[in-house]
Amino acid sequence: MKYIDEFRDGALAKGLARSIAAAADTGRTYRLMEFCGGHTHAIYRYGVQDLMPANVRFVHGPGCPVCVLPMARIDQAIAMAVEHGVTLCTYGDLMRVPASERNSLLKAKAGGADIRMIYSTQDALAIARKAPERQVVLFAIGFETTTPPTAVAIKSARAERLENFSVFCNHVLTPPALATILTAAGEGVVQLDGILGPSHVSTVIGSRPYEFVPAAFGKPVVIAGFEPLDVMQSALMLIRQINAGQASVENQYTRAVTRDGNPKAQALMAEVFSPRETFEWRGLGFLPASALRIAGAYAELDAEQRFPVAPSTGREIKGCECPSVLRGVMEPTDCKLFGSVCTPENPMGACMVSSEGACAAYWSYGRFR
Ligand code: SF4
Repeated sequence: MKYIDEFRDGALAKGLARSIAAAADTGRTYRLMEFCGGHTHAIYRYGVQDLMPANVRFVHGPGCPVCVLPMARIDQAIAMAVEHGVTLCTYGDLMRVPASERNSLLKAKAGGADIRMIYSTQDALAIARKAPERQVVLFAIGFETTTPPTAVAIKSARAERLENFSVFCNHVLTPPALATILTAAGEGVVQLDGILGPSHVSTVIGSRPYEFVPAAFGKPVVIAGFEPLDVMQSALMLIRQINAGQASVENQYTRAVTRDGNPKAQALMAEVFSPRETFEWRGLGFLPASALRIAGAYAELDAEQRFPVAPSTGREIKGCECPSVLRGVMEPTDCKLFGSVCTPENPMGACMVSSEGACAAYWSYGRFR
């Protein structure tokens, strides 16, 4: 299959592995953070880490939108469904993420709340159209990749005068999270030598928003695709920059990403959303200007205003190390609950539930100590 098979070619992988081993034969260590959970899964699904020399280490980043959503926001969504009796539409990954008091969206649904799993924002609109007597809330989460479809849904609802549809907005922005990780390096966050930058996010925002990383932190960034050869080539590009003492943003994922991204999607986002002053990320805390709210011009479609609920102070399940895993200071297997108490069938934290979570990647591809 074009754009798939050619990026999974074993002979090319062996050649890249030899090039990486030669480039990294310098006596130093290379700590490369793969920002996205999609990269983490590619690394373990295809055994990319095993093709690296011992001094090249991938550090897992916070690039999993389900994982970084704090428990308090799931509590709020459940409260909207239970206290206001709305139909809450959400993506499958979120259903089993633990909320406070051992609750989850799935358990709330089993308890009678009208919570439905959807595949796209269009599904939520269709539910609203079919049931005008119900208030339908889209539980919208994700990085910049999934923000434009939410904006389209909001604009469609406005255009159709769909008065029973609103959005609980939890869209977050990747550059502030990267800035936090690099700012805090050494203070509970691992020291990094280079970044494998977000790829799908960059199809929307472009590679330009990451140029602050070399400018302010002196670290190279390579926007990396999600196939195994993409990851390996990107690692080689980073190692070559590090060896040369350079730091710039390079784009390995040229088949999808440009420096300026998708201006139409960006304009849509700017019209429908505005930045929040601050927003909580699991593992990283409250980060300024790191998330979006529905802009004032579309305020009547904001579920937080239409269905107010008390803020929650949800805290992680005791022993779950998701916050440390998301900061890159712990590996999933460092968590005492990994594979014993915590498994995909009985997850204790979001990182074991999400299809992009690091703990799920270690479990799925047999990375045990
Ligand atoms: Fe949390 Fe489970 Fe991962 Fe441990 S293994 S950090 S409990 S999700």
